[in-house]
Amino acid sequence: MARVSRVPARVSQVSAPVTALGPGRRLGVWFQGCALACPGCMSRHTWDPAGGRELTADRFAELWRQALADGVDGLTVSGGEPLEQPAALAELLAAADRERRSAGVEADLLVYTGWELADATADPATADALARADAVITGRYLAGQPTDLVWRGSANQRIVPLSALGERRYAPHLERRTDRPDLQVRVTDGELRIIGVPRPGDLGRIERELRERGVTVRETTWRP
Ligand code: SF4
Repeated sequence: MARVSRVPARVSQVSAPVTALGPGRRLGVWFQGCALACPGCMSRHTWDPAGGRELTADRFAELWRQALADGVDGLTVSGGEPLEQPAALAELLAAADRERRSAGVEADLLVYTGWELADATADPATADALARADAVITGRYLAGQPTDLVWRGSANQRIVPLSALGERRYAPHLERRTDRPDLQVRVTDGELRIIGVPRPGDLGRIERELRERGVTVRETTWRP
């Protein structure tokens, strides 16, 4: 019997392999919609909750099954703000958990959120949404607190393991720092997407280098 998707997620992007947001090679899903409006956010195109497109849990499960077959190490859910769609996030992570068990693959589930964990767990809907996550990276982006902590944009953001698998995968990275964060650059349909957490100045440098190579940047997602 076909499984029925009750609450499709509104997403901005699905991409693989993602290597700059969590350990190993990953499937990345960016949720659409974020009301936090952090000054300096590089993903302003994900703010509008009516933007993006629908992703049903069934379609996601197909993509995740394929990613598992291709040997990914995990799933990264980012945004936008995934916790603004708690029912859809819960359904998506339930599907991810079901499929990884059925494939017998130890692939971790990581969720980025601008919320603090205490706020997420205080609300039953968002607590339920994170029930199957192995780790979260929490906290708003604060442009005034730059950091060299891996996978984080500002020093206030924390990696919090939530399961035994999350503990094994993320404990070595809680305080790990780098002066050269991984950034992936992907070009599709005239759009250049940067995946990862750039340091202050990185985006301006990339724009300048593109200009020097004759590429005209008409619009960016990191400027109002
Ligand atoms: S940095 Fe993240 S939480 Fe902050 S506005 Fe951008 S998408 Fe939202």
